[in-house]
Amino acid sequence: MGPYDAREEIRPIAILRGLEPTGEIRESDMNLVERSTPKGPNAYDVVVIGAGFSGLNALHVLRERFKVRVFEAGDGVGGTWYWNRYPGARCDVESLDYCYTFSRELYRDWDWSERYATQPEIERYANWVADRLDLRRDIQFSTRVMSAVFDEDANLWTVTTDRGDVVTARWVIAATGCLSAPNKPPFKGIDSFKGEIYQTSLWPKEPIDFRGKRVAVIGTGSSGIQAIPQIAEQALHLTVFQRTANYSIPARQGLPSPEYVATRKDEDHFNDWRARAVVAPQGLPTEPMALKDLPPEEAQSELERRWALGGLSEILSPFYLVGSSHEENKIHADFIRSKIRETVKDPKTAELLCPDDHPYTAKRPCVDTGYFETFNRANVSLVSVRNNPVAEVTPDSLRLQNGEEFKIDVLVMATGFDAMTGALTRMDIRGRNGVSLKDAWSHGPRTYLGLQTAGFPNFFIFVGPGSPSVLSNMILGMEYHAQYINDCLRYLCERGIETIEASPEAQDAWAAHMEECAGATIYNDTASWWRGANVEGKPQGFMVYLGGWPLYTQKCAESAAKGYAGFILDGQRVAAEPVA
Ligand code: NAP
Repeated sequence: MGPYDAREEIRPIAILRGLEPTGEIRESDMNLVERSTPKGPNAYDVVVIGAGFSGLNALHVLRERFKVRVFEAGDGVGGTWYWNRYPGARCDVESLDYCYTFSRELYRDWDWSERYATQPEIERYANWVADRLDLRRDIQFSTRVMSAVFDEDANLWTVTTDRGDVVTARWVIAATGCLSAPNKPPFKGIDSFKGEIYQTSLWPKEPIDFRGKRVAVIGTGSSGIQAIPQIAEQALHLTVFQRTANYSIPARQGLPSPEYVATRKDEDHFNDWRARAVVAPQGLPTEPMALKDLPPEEAQSELERRWALGGLSEILSPFYLVGSSHEENKIHADFIRSKIRETVKDPKTAELLCPDDHPYTAKRPCVDTGYFETFNRANVSLVSVRNNPVAEVTPDSLRLQNGEEFKIDVLVMATGFDAMTGALTRMDIRGRNGVSLKDAWSHGPRTYLGLQTAGFPNFFIFVGPGSPSVLSNMILGMEYHAQYINDCLRYLCERGIETIEASPEAQDAWAAHMEECAGATIYNDTASWWRGANVEGKPQGFMVYLGGWPLYTQKCAESAAKGYAGFILDGQRVAAEPVA
């Protein structure tokens, strides 16, 4: 394996299409950075919070020009793929679609062993990238950022950590992930539990032995659905507590054929795929298709064919109406319910497992390996807590509202995340006038292009609320943001501009545009984590941009081309109209 060659880097396609705001960096630009940045060991141009896939990407891109420090709470890289090491954890986006593409060399030199990579393999990949790009020297591990406070006189952020670090930075980038703040429902009595408790998203590094134990899993989202079949293989008895039944598609795990891998790594194909993937993330685009327009038997056989292939991209990519037409959606939902009834032998359990309160994909659909089959095992039972919630955890049991009690030795909380905002609002981030981000977002997150929030100058968010993030290919989203922010900082440096922040008007326009996009779907009426509905007391509203990746990148590029329309530079609104 040769040394990493930066010349092989490929820039996001939207930027490639002549929409770059600036030309090549000149020596004089560097001087501007030099002049504006305070000197000293604790002074940085950029502080990046988090060394997950976003943070690594940001560090690599920005480090060429800026002095960057990354703080990471874990003792290793990988973010999501560092923390979520529960049994069965694997990515449900295909490996060849879920890895960095900014360097063809990186893409070419890593060989994925399975169609869907396991957590250990993805963590190994993140470590391999960190080593290959020599990223660790700028990352401080086992260090959690506690606060970031903006000094309006100096136009600098002061960042503090739980290890006592106090550093300054011109720019702060939150690469904190969308799904990184665990949701721990405050079950009464939970602290009195004498057995073992595990949260899927904070899983210990040592393997857990479930043999001979009575195990309870609360939660049947993507994490629960992956963990349940694995835990069931060991446990004496496993009881699954389900609040909402979920749609799940079989992964059909396998080895990618050498021919397929060779095609994906071929230079022309790679460039073409990358260009198209930016346009249609999550798998290779296929011809658009509407099942409602087909004769029922044809629709059925199309679904059967795709079910046999497995995976979200097979079952979703061509069906552009699933998210907007109830009629189309019902065909898919009925089909999945029929598969659940076919698989699960006990009809009562099968009925409980059939989602009946939300359209298909209105909550994040899952991808599984043997999930529904697990309920045919003698040592597994399913309990619905939809109308009979968990009321209490006692020292040795779970008790439901109706008084029913389940004796357990191990409690596994697969209860998800305070998604999109939790990682940000749990830190004390203070912008202009000492206003905290938590207060600024008390009615829900507000951003412009998902990149910045008004009142917080020089504070950027990677794949955050207001961007397509979790409803697009996350890795491509991160790469786009890394390049976009890098270009933006270069633009500022070239002009000696010290601050950039979202304008409140542009932010309002973006919120209205977000609402309009969400309103065109059938997702808004479902209590999903995309809407903040899974966390008690959290303000609700669709937090992910639903206008699609092409429109999103077009709007970002338009703003940049107009000198960052919609942003305020050094206190001056950019003359052009915001792009929303
Ligand atoms: P999740 O989808 O939010 O699921 C949490 C589960 O816990 C839900 O079934 C929820 O029920 C249940 N729950 C929460 N509070 C509860 C309570 N008080 N009582 C009973 N049940 C409760 O979280 P997740 O499974 O960790 O997945 C989150 C996201 O992470 C996924 O949607 C996906 O985007 C990502 N993920 C991806 C992969 C992958 O392979 N790429 C794997 C895992 C996760 P309700 O539905 O009723 O709220």
